[in-house]
Amino acid sequence: MRNANRRYTLRSRPAGLPSPENFAADTVPIRPPGDGELLVETMYISIDPAMRSWIGEGPAYTRRIEIGEPMRAGGIARVLESRADGFAPGDVVQGRVGWQSHPTLRGRETQRLDLTLGSLQDWLGPLGTSALTAYFGLRDVGELRPGDRLLVSTAAGGVGQIAVQMGRIEGCRVVGIAGGPEKCRFLAEELGVDAAIDYKAEADLTAAIRRACPDGVDVYFDNVGGPMLDAALANMRSGGRIVCCGRISQAGAAEPYGIRNLGLMGGRPMRMGSFIVFDYNSRYPEARAWLSAQIKAGRLRQRLHVEHGLDRAPHALGMLFRGENMGKLVVRVAA
Ligand code: NAP
Repeated sequence: MRNANRRYTLRSRPAGLPSPENFAADTVPIRPPGDGELLVETMYISIDPAMRSWIGEGPAYTRRIEIGEPMRAGGIARVLESRADGFAPGDVVQGRVGWQSHPTLRGRETQRLDLTLGSLQDWLGPLGTSALTAYFGLRDVGELRPGDRLLVSTAAGGVGQIAVQMGRIEGCRVVGIAGGPEKCRFLAEELGVDAAIDYKAEADLTAAIRRACPDGVDVYFDNVGGPMLDAALANMRSGGRIVCCGRISQAGAAEPYGIRNLGLMGGRPMRMGSFIVFDYNSRYPEARAWLSAQIKAGRLRQRLHVEHGLDRAPHALGMLFRGENMGKLVVRVAA
């Protein structure tokens, strides 16, 4: 249907975890591109945990989405019409497509994909934002060194898979934490971790980490926060680094969990640091050059979890918080 932009807008703010009822579908006329703009057809939408904070009442690192506004999202699209320098119809680009089939984007906020670095699928996975997050989190915040004992949570997810593989490439001993036997099998058999912990099967996660990391942990890449962070803190070595990347266990929590083991940092000096990947924007080329070299050498890959059709987007967002995605979660909108 040419001249129709199908989209999802925010209908209501979620009280807890997001559900499809929080979004409304509509179809509006395509907005023709003005000067410096592009009309695109969305191919893939990235589904990210941060979206929960954009639509909630609580603090968010970026502007909240207002009721009635189209849902914001990064994604990959094909250019249909261009009034922006450097773009032509047929180009494949990444940008803020939102949950929309035919958005009109600003050229200066959109990048043409460099397909010499990797395939379109690679740009969703090991060249995408999740991979950049793992790269800067481990390199800059975690100061990862060969021989480190690295522990990664949500290890089978988008960011986690890359963090685990970076650890192996850098010569670290790598332990991944994930929910369920299938994810742990994937970590052990396909990503080659030294040990995988199924946190859902462990009554005492502190003891489970101790068994998997008998010499302690140098770097904990934390995607979860909450009690899992406490269990990791109890296993950190002196000189350890904790990379506070995300805290998905606290999404939609009525009362935030208070971390109990911070006192252990007194006896075993260590560092905790947080970061936002977008602050590293100027260094994306450095990261992508390294990631691309690893992909081409066959050392880095990422399993994608693809949901089909724009109408799956509202459901897909909830999947992240129920652990239903196996790999980096994307919605395929058009081929
Ligand atoms: P993901 O790991 O692909 O998906 C989320 C995963 O979180 C789920 O599959 C589930 O895995 C796990 N999970 C959900 N609820 C949980 C809970 N209560 N306790 C423990 N695990 C839970 O998502 P992603 O996009 O790669 O993001 C991973 C983390 O990175 C998120 O915390 C996100 O906010 C953060 N992030 C940070 C930045 C930054 O700039 N700092 C940028 C991007 C992402 P299991 O089945 O294993 O439980």
